[in-house]
Amino acid sequence: MSATQPMPSLGFSAPALVRKVDRPTFWRPTKGEGAPTIEQRLGNVFPRDDNGTVSVYLVSNYQDLQRVSLAYNSTRLNLTEEIQWLPLSLAEVQAEGIEIKTDLAETVCGFANRLHRSLIHDEEKFRRLTQRLVSEDRELRKFRRGELKSAITKGEGDGCAVTRDDHDGSGCECASPAASSAK
Ligand SMILES: [Zn+2]
Repeated sequence: MSATQPMPSLGFSAPALVRKVDRPTFWRPTKGEGAPTIEQRLGNVFPRDDNGTVSVYLVSNYQDLQRVSLAYNSTRLNLTEEIQWLPLSLAEVQAEGIEIKTDLAETVCGFANRLHRSLIHDEEKFRRLTQRLVSEDRELRKFRRGELKSAITKGEGDGCAVTRDDHDGSGCECASPAASSAK
């Protein structure tokens, strides 16, 4: 098995920034009847958080997305809850002049925490980014229950704390998922 999964399984080109979308109905469809307005998308998909940023993860392959999805769900009730990710290329984020800051997330997974990035929120830049994504019909990548089940199995093999009850919550030192797949 190669270190990286073929792109179709990822649904977008890597490396990419992925943004968790809480309310997918404010993203889909990208055009036609029922399509949300740019302002609705901005307010619901890219809201400014308390730090003035928008939280994303930088993923380079399918295994990264798998581990990040698992880590994200460690903050929810159920590890296999489906997740909707909006992929953004680094190039398009940078083209709008949006600043990308590296700062650790605070999940129990140290590997996923290191992939966390904060985009500095700027109304005008995010409006242009949103318009760009809509004009390109950017699709959400649904990370399904079955994929999360595989992510749990993989996480167990890599010693990820998300899959264990006996962690201290300070961020595990699990093996890189892509590296262990390459063995
Ligand atoms: Zn971990």
